[in-house]
Amino acid sequence: MRTVLVIDDEREFRTLLAELLRQNGWQVFEADDGEQGIQSAQLNLPDVVLCDLLMAPCNGFQVCRALRDVEALKGTKIVIASGRDFEADRQEALEAGAHEYLAKPIQLEQLLRLLSHLTATPEPTSPPPAPATSEAPTSVRLKFWGVRGSVPTPGPSTLEYGGNTSCLELRAGRQIVILDAGTGLRLLGRELQTEFGDQALDLTLLLTHTHWDHIQGLPFFLPVYKSQNRVRILGYEGARLGLETVLSSQMENPFFPIGLREVPANVRVEELKQLNFSLGNFQVHACFAYHPGVCVGYRLTAAGRSVAFFPDNEIRQTNRGAETPAAADFARAENQKLTDFLRHVDVLVMDAQYDRQEYSDHIGWGHGCVDEVVALALQAEVKHLVLFHHDPDHDDAKVSQMADHARQLVAAQKSALKVDAAREGMVVELPAVVPAK
Ligand SMILES: [Zn+2]
Ligand SMILES: [Zn+2]
Repeated sequence: MRTVLVIDDEREFRTLLAELLRQNGWQVFEADDGEQGIQSAQLNLPDVVLCDLLMAPCNGFQVCRALRDVEALKGTKIVIASGRDFEADRQEALEAGAHEYLAKPIQLEQLLRLLSHLTATPEPTSPPPAPATSEAPTSVRLKFWGVRGSVPTPGPSTLEYGGNTSCLELRAGRQIVILDAGTGLRLLGRELQTEFGDQALDLTLLLTHTHWDHIQGLPFFLPVYKSQNRVRILGYEGARLGLETVLSSQMENPFFPIGLREVPANVRVEELKQLNFSLGNFQVHACFAYHPGVCVGYRLTAAGRSVAFFPDNEIRQTNRGAETPAAADFARAENQKLTDFLRHVDVLVMDAQYDRQEYSDHIGWGHGCVDEVVALALQAEVKHLVLFHHDPDHDDAKVSQMADHARQLVAAQKSALKVDAAREGMVVELPAVVPAK
């Protein structure tokens, strides 16, 4: 039997409602106020909590927040019922973790419809499975939503390439994997909203690391504010704090008004333990980047096509900066590993923040020099190189000039390597490769 917990301090209303629900096949628990309600929910694990908004000493918003933090109640749906119909209250309730908001007086028919709708598709207790892979994708599509490094750079001098920070969208069939959550993520969220409307989204967000320019779009990502959506955030743990703590802390008071754990969508943060894993249609390989902190690059393969993403990476120096022969040998071996990791990739998106002149003042900062990135791409026989993580001080003319310089280096080697500078809105379509029979 499906179960509902009714929390309301108006005794008469509560008992009447409970009786009506029982007559309609529900097992009902009742609680007098928010605090009792929280206890009862933890004890009885109901399918639905129907909670009044304005109660003392613990109101409906607080009940929502408290229940969202209880692992055993992850599948429980919360409906806030209020005598007021202010849009601001509705929004705040959804942000606090409610799945629905009802204005009193409540129509029994409407409530029953809502309850069966909410309990029709129970939440899984384990991480959501990746979307079905039965349909072989016909292509892999890559779209750039943020290409800038370090800090967003709006303004007339960056209109061509864009000023948003690191964010890429990768699709294979119906599956959407998002690489990094820089400020470009906000634009992607808006676009997904336009494309899918109220349809439930199942998104995977793969983070390379948690430097600001790679996570700052998350609080402004519309899909996390819709209760029907699932967003799975994957990344590696940093040195001091767990990934979830790091991501939540940028949304804590006083930095942001809504906590990550309070957003209505089913957001799960999972720390990756392996370097090789699969995500639906994609096979994913990770490789540690040469960049401060725990930072990786990914190589994702689907439909016979591969994309590598190294937004923040410096290529190790084997002469400058390598003081001893042993250090130089080590650097060479690491570079060889990276070359092997990138071998024959279709598209390589890589940190090429500095030109040669600038790089000489930034050795050991963890960012790439365009000349060396081109050399690496040639060595690894990459097909298409996309220069990424544009320096915040580089205007459009400078980025274009660096891309031209890279093309000249390629031409001098008589290679077919294609080179572009990443640009917001740029799309790379890779038709599926049919394996030879
Ligand atoms: Zn960065
Ligand atoms: Zn970084």
